Parts: sequence; structure tokens; C-alpha cells
Amino acid sequence: MINYNTANEIVFEEISKIKLSTEEVPLLGSLNRLLAEDVLADVNLPPFDNSAMDGYAIKYNPKVKEWDSIGEISAGNYKNYLLTDDTAVYIMTGSKLPLNCTAIVPIEDVDIINQRIKLKSGIQISEGQNIRKCGEDIRQGEKALGKFTLVQPNHISILAACGKSKVKVFRKLKIGVMATGDELIDIDEIPSDDKIRATNLYSLIASINDMNIIPINFGFEKDDRKKVHAKIKSILKSDVDILVTSGGVSVGKYDYLKEIFSELNVEIKFWRVNIKPGKPLVFGVFTGNEERKFIFGLPGNPVSSFVTFNLFVRVSVENLYHIKKDRVVSAELLSDIKKIDGKRHFVRGKLNYSAEDKKYLTEIVGSQSSGNMVGLGLSNCLIVIEEDKLNPKKGDIVQCIKI
Ligand code: AMP
Ligand code: MG
Repeated sequence: MINYNTANEIVFEEISKIKLSTEEVPLLGSLNRLLAEDVLADVNLPPFDNSAMDGYAIKYNPKVKEWDSIGEISAGNYKNYLLTDDTAVYIMTGSKLPLNCTAIVPIEDVDIINQRIKLKSGIQISEGQNIRKCGEDIRQGEKALGKFTLVQPNHISILAACGKSKVKVFRKLKIGVMATGDELIDIDEIPSDDKIRATNLYSLIASINDMNIIPINFGFEKDDRKKVHAKIKSILKSDVDILVTSGGVSVGKYDYLKEIFSELNVEIKFWRVNIKPGKPLVFGVFTGNEERKFIFGLPGNPVSSFVTFNLFVRVSVENLYHIKKDRVVSAELLSDIKKIDGKRHFVRGKLNYSAEDKKYLTEIVGSQSSGNMVGLGLSNCLIVIEEDKLNPKKGDIVQCIKI
């Protein structure tokens, strides 16, 4: 059995070896994808000097406070006016400047009487005011967005402004999911006798969808050694990068996934981690003819599989994709927690930010049974209690992982 930190280091190191090839996607398809290229501005932004306000374009002269309006320019409707010291053009935000324009006087700073524009008393104007210069956001050829940017809605306008109707991104990983267990039935069946619905399949696929990568559903298989062997063998021949299994990794008579992995030349990097829930976790690497595949054998209990997926699969894949999510916060415990062993515990908790106290507060919530998904559903964080910490008390500061 190894400790959480060592197990995590092994997983990070192995998963970071995955080669991410690239593909081109339409602009809107790049949302939540990782840029595989530096995006350079193909034009100056803005492309021409323009007005930052609705107002009057003037040729700045400190002595002049009144102008004759000689016309108007709206955005996209440039007209070729030539300004003198005492003429002005009514101009709208974003419009290209008339010739000789050196300042924009906001409309609210003037009185307009017939075609005569008068600066209101007490208003100062300065040369260059309210003018956006060509290329002041970014100049043609400069880097607008860097490789490894995770494209978010606030990046889309930059990509669009740089003419990127197609965007080069890193491909999405494919993660195969399968469950094992004689007790499993489809979710549209009514459980009878000793059967349960195969909920983990859905929970794991949802977690993969949430990461915007590709889940491949390999369904569930009975604890039939030959069948499970054949199924995993065929999955290892498929194009998945990672295989996540649920169930069959503990020490029961029919928990032989680890042995099957070994029979199929999966190198077991570790089995069993000093954590609760999720102790029976197995991690291995399959080196086939071409690419390597990474195998996570998660325990079957619904909370264990959810927690180990989040702690190991999700964070290592996010690390591969350069995704930095600030999921860990320090919080003050609102009640004591019983913990008497040397494992690292991940306790289902409720985390709230108290605006009054200006800090996060947390407390244990629901059942802590690793089979109880109702308790998991009530929680919004995992309260981390380190190996050497026993019976944390109300008022202690703990780390919480948001889920
Ligand atoms: P195992 O890790 O195979 O020993 O499974 C532990 C327990 O988790 C089983 O007794 C089931 O109650 C439950 N379980 C196993 N697989 C699943 C699954 N796919 N969905 C929901 N619960 C499961
Ligand atoms: Mg089982």
C-alpha cells in the first residue's frame, strides 16, 4: 500500500506522457479546448483610428470653444470631411475619424444650438482625448493568444477578430469506461433480489463529459473471468487513451481485475492507496505496439469510484491539458470529525463562504459510507484529513476540495 502523495505523483508522471495530437475545429467548437498554436493578429486591432465616444470630432486648439457642425460619421459609414480649427463632425462610437481630427468632445460636454456646438462651461478638453488609435489593442503580427490557452467565452472575440474561423486545438482524450459485477443491472430495470443499478457507469461518464473529453461506454460485465478478460483485451486494442473500470479490485473472491490486467501485460504501478474511501485503487500502464494506455481500476462502491476518479483521473488529465482549477480552499471546521486511523480521509462535506466572517466554513454532511451516494449528493466538497491528523476539532483549519 502506498500513500496518497506518492500515488498521485506516479499518476501525474505517467499521464503527462500522453501525446496530444492536434486538430482544427470551427471557431465555436474551440470553446473549452486547449489552443495548440500561438494565435497572431492578422490585422491591427483596432484596424483604424476611431472614436471612443458619441460626440464631436474636432481639430484640437486650446483657444477654440465653439465649432460649426459640418456633418456626421457613424460606425461603418465613413465620410471624407476635413476639419479646421472651428469645424466639428458629429461622430458615433467606433467610427473612423475625419481628417485632421485630434480629439473627440463627448456629446454630454456640449450645448448644441442649431448647427453651432458650444463647450459647456467648466469642461476641459485635451489633445487626443477619446481617440482609440489604430493597433493600440494589438499590432498586426503580435501574439493575441498563446498556445495552451484554455479557450473560454472571453477569448472567442479575440479569435474572431483575428479571422480564426478555424482554430488549431489539442485533440480530446478518449476514456473508456466499464463496470464489473454480477449484481449489476441496467438503470431502466427494477432491481430485484440482490441486484443493483449500474450507477457508476453513468457517474463516471458524466465526470468525463464534464471535463469536455470523450467517454466511450463499454457497459458492464458479469464477474466472469473469461468474459472480463476478453472485454478488457478488446478495449486495450481500441483507440482509448485511458481505461477506467469500476469494481473487482478489492480482496473478494471475485475481485480479479488486477490479475486480468497483469495477464494482459498491464504493468501495475500500484494497488491500494492509504486513503478512505477508495483504498483498493489500481493503476497500471499498458505498452502495446503503438501508444501506451493507462488503466485505472476504481473500487465499485459509488462514493469510492467518484472520489478516486476526481482525485486521480481528473486532476492528472487536467494537468496534462494545462488546466488550473482552484478547487482546493482552506476552511474552518464547524464540528468535530472522528478519525482514528492513519489513512488520508476525504470526508463528504458542505462548504460555504461566510461573507460576514470573510472565510470558508465547512462541516461533515450526510452518511460517510462509501456506498452511500445520497450523502455524496448532499455534499459539495471533500474535506481532506491528512494521514497523521487524528480527530480534527471544531475550529481547526482544513483543506477542502470542491466537487
Ligand atoms: P466491488 O468493488 O466490486 O467489491 O464493489 C463494491 C460494491 O460497490 C458492490 O457490492 C456494489 O454494491 C457496488 N458497486 C459495484 N459496481 C457498481 C456500479 N457499477 N454501480 C454502482 N454500484 C456498484
Ligand atoms: Mg464486484
